[in-house]
Amino acid sequence: MASVLFPMAIPEPFDYEIPVDMPLVEGSYVLAPLGKKLVHGIVWTIREAKEKDKTRTLKIIETVLDVPPLPASCLAFVDFVARYTCHLQGVVLRMVLCSPDARRPAPVQRVYIPAPQRPDKMTPAREKILAVAGDGHFSAAELARRASVSPGVVKALADAGGLTMIDRPTDYPFDPPDSAGKGVTLTPSQSAAGAAMLTLTRRDSFAPALLDGVTGSGKTEVYFEAIADVLARNQNAQILVLLPEIALTQDVLARFEQRFGAPPAEWHSERSTVQRRRVWREVAHGRARIIVGARSALFLPFANLRLIIVDEEHDTSFKQEEGVSYHARDMAVARARFADAAVILASATPSLESLVNARSGRYAHVRLSARPGTAVLPPISTVDLREHPPEAGCWLSAPLLEAMTRTIERDEQCLLFLNRRGYAPLTICRNCGMRMQAPDSATYLVEHRYSGRLVCHLTGYSMPKPAACPACGAEGSLHPVGPGVERLLEEVQARFSNARAEVFSSDTANSAADVRDLIARMERGDIDILIGTQMAAKGHNFPRLTLVGVVDADMGLHGADLRAGERTYQTLVQVAGRAGRAAHPGRAILQTHQPDHEAILALCSGDRETFIAAELGLREDMGFPPYGRLAALIFSAPNEQEVINAARAFVAVAPLVEDVDIWGPSEPPLNRVRGRWRRRLLVRAARKVDVSALVQSWRKRVKLDRNVRLKVDIDPYSFL
Ligand code: ADP
Repeated sequence: MASVLFPMAIPEPFDYEIPVDMPLVEGSYVLAPLGKKLVHGIVWTIREAKEKDKTRTLKIIETVLDVPPLPASCLAFVDFVARYTCHLQGVVLRMVLCSPDARRPAPVQRVYIPAPQRPDKMTPAREKILAVAGDGHFSAAELARRASVSPGVVKALADAGGLTMIDRPTDYPFDPPDSAGKGVTLTPSQSAAGAAMLTLTRRDSFAPALLDGVTGSGKTEVYFEAIADVLARNQNAQILVLLPEIALTQDVLARFEQRFGAPPAEWHSERSTVQRRRVWREVAHGRARIIVGARSALFLPFANLRLIIVDEEHDTSFKQEEGVSYHARDMAVARARFADAAVILASATPSLESLVNARSGRYAHVRLSARPGTAVLPPISTVDLREHPPEAGCWLSAPLLEAMTRTIERDEQCLLFLNRRGYAPLTICRNCGMRMQAPDSATYLVEHRYSGRLVCHLTGYSMPKPAACPACGAEGSLHPVGPGVERLLEEVQARFSNARAEVFSSDTANSAADVRDLIARMERGDIDILIGTQMAAKGHNFPRLTLVGVVDADMGLHGADLRAGERTYQTLVQVAGRAGRAAHPGRAILQTHQPDHEAILALCSGDRETFIAAELGLREDMGFPPYGRLAALIFSAPNEQEVINAARAFVAVAPLVEDVDIWGPSEPPLNRVRGRWRRRLLVRAARKVDVSALVQSWRKRVKLDRNVRLKVDIDPYSFL
């Protein structure tokens, strides 16, 4: 008999009888009756029927599908994630079987390749088409896009016999990567780091490593070496590279293509259903070799996963908050463990969690302390805003303005970093003092002047900016408070009327193509001053960027968040690291009201060790991660009293366990989201405590009212 797990919120797998001669293994993809329907599921276990089973009448599995069975390592991973995050296995399985079309035969697509003979009549547009058509099998629309011609020209060329038409399934294989492609010549320290990586990947067993190298030191080049070696040694090896915000880091993808001679398989939310289906199937068949993806790529059904790389492992976007909340870095390590694979966590500012793991010897610790060649790390200095206050209604201090002027005079580029989208983070009424809030959430609305709307950044709710105050009715009294990138652009344009300034945020560059365009303009030198949010802080290499100005370095230092200092430090190191990545030396200037704050001092002196020691000391004293464990329990309900009662009732039956503290219920700063009132509990436990098991057993003691939802967040990153 077989137990089948369905990708839905059902507490456990159901038992079925296996028809004679049906070739099933654990992991097989099957269709089985559930209630009155036939439903897709995965064979979770196969076992001999015991005596007591024989008295039950079991339903029979209907069919087994022509999809490779999920490997044991994938099943074990689903079990683990479900247990660790306190979610049902079926809900986690749904994340694996996320491409529902993958089990159906692939649809057919019409694509074109150059015909053996060129037509007599050739035009420049036709030449362009034939040049790009040689690179692959593209649809007419794709060819037209790549050659920058109209689809009509493609069609005419095909009619004239210049293109051959082929009908082929939409999930055709990816071009195999070439492991022999040549990379840059590594410096001696990069070679040493590369060699250290190879000793790990060649073990062919679970081997975690932290690749800890300053910004621009060549971490990517080093892990490319590891990838090339894994590809060369094992014809079937698959490699997963997780990148934060992958949809927006197209330049990194281009580097993969350059190095390995073929684009990697991409997996992220911006991909179409057809593209996802192709990746899913090719991964399951083991034919996609390098997969570059967002965190959800961890749940792809890899046939032979040998290496995982988590680039920018400290990045908070690896933490998934919605649905099953998990941290992709931690789950990547678990995924590698179940697959007996190597895992490389790369960062210039590793998380304290990973640093502690490296220092205790659980992870190999490989360092790169310098940039290659003549590139050097930019010196970081501060401008004390108490001494150099910007003019009223402005945000740039005299010393920063002066440095910008010099930079532009040298024909170099500036990046101003302000992690605030929109025009102003707050709108108040000058007449009655009312602050514009979202109607259904405890958030302030952010003014976006390009769109003329007030927007809630948490839920996406938006409304046109009213002409009069909704509270007192005063006309024209609504006033923006504080700067966002759009407002900073106004200031920059007023000060530097001859400079070309642009905003780089998810509002101005919200597709991969926009980002590509903007990066190309920056690389060509068409932009003098780039004003960017977090998006501009990551990954990019702009050779002529030599000045980074951080408009508000204090932002984020005082969140109600145990990682506030760490995160500020990481962001500022990353953003400062955008400067001086090529031959031109760069510098970074931080505007701050607190030049003596530990994180700011550490940044300026480059003394990471002292900062880390202080942060770790604090965490140890508080019993916080990585020395202790945390779990957040978040209750929500449409009625405030209901949520208060539910949280109280929950606490009343809390398990009394040694080394576990329960704090709350408390009213969080975000006490209402999308019309639901919220209360939080925080569980702090010693490292040895299995918090997931504790929360699971606790949850079973209470039956929550239908209106009340409980979200469990093991190892929370948000405390709002
Ligand atoms: P990181 O990942 O540590 O930020 P990268 O691997 O992106 O660093 O390297 C930064 C830049 O320096 C890239 O443009 C890269 O190609 C270049 N680079 C790194 N190492 C070398 C080297 N040994 N020779 C030439 N260029 C290099």
